[in-house]
Amino acid sequence: MKIQMKTPLVELDGDEMTRVLWPLIKDKLLLPFIDLQTEYYDLGIEERDRTNDQITIDAAEAIKKYGVGVKNATITPNQDRVEEYGLKEQWKSPNATVRAMLDGTVFRKPIMVKNIKPSVRSWQKPIVVGRHAYGDFYKNAEIFAEAGGKLEIVVTDKNGKETRQTIMEVDEPAIVQGIHNTVASIGHFARACFEYSLDQKIDCWFATKDTISKQYDQRFKIIFEEIFAQEYKEKFAAAGIEYFYTLIDDVVARMMKTEGGMLWACKNYDGDVMSDMVASAFGSLAMMSSVLVSPYGYFEYEAAHGTVQRHYYQHLKGERTSTNPVALIYAWTGALRKRGELDGTPDLCAFCDSLEAITIECIESGYMTGDLARICEPAAIKVLDSIEFIDELGKRLQQLNK
Ligand code: NAD
Repeated sequence: MKIQMKTPLVELDGDEMTRVLWPLIKDKLLLPFIDLQTEYYDLGIEERDRTNDQITIDAAEAIKKYGVGVKNATITPNQDRVEEYGLKEQWKSPNATVRAMLDGTVFRKPIMVKNIKPSVRSWQKPIVVGRHAYGDFYKNAEIFAEAGGKLEIVVTDKNGKETRQTIMEVDEPAIVQGIHNTVASIGHFARACFEYSLDQKIDCWFATKDTISKQYDQRFKIIFEEIFAQEYKEKFAAAGIEYFYTLIDDVVARMMKTEGGMLWACKNYDGDVMSDMVASAFGSLAMMSSVLVSPYGYFEYEAAHGTVQRHYYQHLKGERTSTNPVALIYAWTGALRKRGELDGTPDLCAFCDSLEAITIECIESGYMTGDLARICEPAAIKVLDSIEFIDELGKRLQQLNK
């Protein structure tokens, strides 16, 4: 009998190579074992264009309704994509839209296997990057001031009172950018990180550039300090873990000398960049799990990588591809396990544990996709293409469930 689900999972499909792999993962690794219940939203670029991006908003609303979503990688269109797909406009990043609607923090954790050594020799444990997923220059206003001029920043409060500051006066072409964050969202970010650290029993490191940014970054530092002192100091002491604040340049240097095993809380842009660096140093973008944790109790699981465009064009030509599906598989297991925890269906959680364990075992036994085969030690026994790798996992799962 298949494992039953009590509540549907919100399923957000995507584009290109990851769209090709998505149904294979479902058909071969999930549907034979689970009576899978999902509410499907097609976030492929054509459907976003057809619906004027309403489908992305509907999907985010559905996550708010049901609590847990799983998202495939999606194209964020630039001008090239507008021409390639004949789009009406350069639609916004669906990730940014969903994150703005759910608020929250994205936690990215490397998936470690014994036969892939991190590029940084001292790293032995995963470094989890906690990325604040609201505001900063992802929700900005920018002006190219062709003739230069008096560049100002203005805040108009509810009563119409203006606070104005001059950034610079220039008489040459200039660029200006205005960014924001909210005290509430920074507080959510701090609490999400402290909760994650406590849950995983790992230290929490946080860094900004408060020496230069005396209002913006310093506010992050103060909010973290206050929330930690008021709500978490004792809990951290009891769990034997620490909260550590330093400057972003200091944390980058120190991180290279640690053995890993901490949560690195990052502002939005730092997290965007550092999570890719950490993923790559631990082996591959495809060996990284990623979840958006919203302060309102919503969870969105995704792969940390993109749509693997180059492989998709190979696939369209009928060539074999070595796209690694591990991060996509972990997006599904993460989401289904959370569904199982919320619904009280432990057999669903146990299945997700098994699928993850089988995936790790498969790679550690020498069977893997090309991206990993290039960096694994000892050498791979068999290099599999994407479909063969999923088939191999399916075979191992069938054996386990006999
Ligand atoms: P990408 O992550 O698709 O690829 C970056 C590099 O990593 C490429 O060399 C690729 O071959 C390799 N790579 C990534 N995932 C891999 C996997 N699973 N197996 C093997 N190799 C893998 O990023 P990109 O090329 O910058 O972007 C392609 C498209 O993806 C763009 O349209 C972009 O907008 C979109 N994108 C989406 C997301 C998301 O939805 N989460 C994130 C990043 C990029």
